Amino acid sequence: MIKQVHCPICHTVFNLHDRVILDTMNTLYHPDCYDYLFEKKDVDTFQAMVEKYDFFHDLLPAH
Ligand SMILES: [Zn+2]
Repeated sequence: MIKQVHCPICHTVFNLHDRVILDTMNTLYHPDCYDYLFEKKDVDTFQAMVEKYDFFHDLLPAH
């Protein structure tokens, strides 16, 4: 089970299949919560982000 991450704006936990935005500070937001403070780096599902980027790998279950 991937560890829970809250959206910094609405504080709702991301679901695996939620579409999320990653900014250049490596913060995840819901598309509706994204504040355009930093440039957009990627848009994908929460699960895809966690699997794609090394800095999220500590959220993955231990093998
Ligand atoms: Zn949000």
